[in-house]
Amino acid sequence: MRVIWNGGELLFRLDPEDEITGKASDGYPVKLATNSCHLSGVPGDAHPDLFAVAAWTVVAPWTRRRITFDRAVSAEVAAALHDGWGIEAGPVSAEPRRAGSVLAISYSGGADSVAAATVYPEAPFVHFRRVEHPRIPNRWPHYRSDVLARLARQTGRDITIVESDLEYTLAEPRPGYPEHQAVAAGALLMADRLGLGGLGFGYEMGSRWLGGGRYLLRYTPDNFLWAPHGAWGRLFAAVGVHIVLPVGGVSEAVTMRLAVNSDLKDQVRWCLRGTDGPCRTCGKCLYKELIMAAVERRPLDTPITADRPVARKWLKPPPYGGQEMIEYGLARVPGIENTLFATALSHLRPTEESTSWLDRCYPPAIDEIPEPWRDQAATFMADHVGFMNEDDRRRVETWGA
Ligand SMILES: [Zn+2]
Repeated sequence: MRVIWNGGELLFRLDPEDEITGKASDGYPVKLATNSCHLSGVPGDAHPDLFAVAAWTVVAPWTRRRITFDRAVSAEVAAALHDGWGIEAGPVSAEPRRAGSVLAISYSGGADSVAAATVYPEAPFVHFRRVEHPRIPNRWPHYRSDVLARLARQTGRDITIVESDLEYTLAEPRPGYPEHQAVAAGALLMADRLGLGGLGFGYEMGSRWLGGGRYLLRYTPDNFLWAPHGAWGRLFAAVGVHIVLPVGGVSEAVTMRLAVNSDLKDQVRWCLRGTDGPCRTCGKCLYKELIMAAVERRPLDTPITADRPVARKWLKPPPYGGQEMIEYGLARVPGIENTLFATALSHLRPTEESTSWLDRCYPPAIDEIPEPWRDQAATFMADHVGFMNEDDRRRVETWGA
């Protein structure tokens, strides 16, 4: 892979051994659509390691053996790419970037992201906004990035919005981040300007510790994507922008509760379709409604019926993505046996007791937050959430076993 930056424009050329269908770090197959993308408003004089890592968040899935940057990187970044992915990177000669003192939040506006922001009320935001690609038709106009950016501005936080078309480098499964970390490409390039030493993400316990999302459903202490000692954690640390997961120790029930009780509650938006509010008809809205109903201890309120395509997976037996939260919801939502979750209920049979560990914070998640920001997160969790006991911790550490 060869990488060239012209200002905020990233161009990349595949080497003969590279492939247009690659795999993201979570193992998900992704197909390349085009070999260029753009990030707006980023400085041209960022540290070369920042350009290198920002590029890697886009090109990693399609790079097989080596990567050649257009400016020399540090030996630290080359080593992190080699140790994490087995990739030869060069040229090498730059001095490493020193970590700054500022923690920013990579802010999406979703409940998890808002909860992460609530842990650090003084942290500035960096918001990634999708814009159209000049050469790729936009077949996804329902994705309202303008609404999300407007809501992010309304938070009143110090905010940097980076616009980018990098998601259109993906042809399949649909436009999206080639790697989950690509959401941080703009923040990385802004890191010198913002004095960043850390970047906080809204990944919660399911994503960090339970193999949630697209990954395996099992306890994942060595999570390749998000553990500080994982490949991505080490690569970000090598450029002085530590990955910080302020809510990495709590479930989506807790992030939802924190978000809807926070100063930012009016700006929370997890659905990318609606303009005046969540659409209520997509799969994500249904999942979040189950959690919200459980948190508020009320019946499910959804227009989605069992005959709708988004309901189909709930008519089948487990496993489900985010299954810990499904169990949490099934155990708490009154009348759930009369909804499209009846099948899931009959298989999982959770109780409030069997899911109460999801109301507390997993202490190792706080231990792995870098020292400058650890105490604040620990105090926040002690004051607003509470920590797991030994039994709870065992639930986490035997998940999927
Ligand atoms: Zn929706």
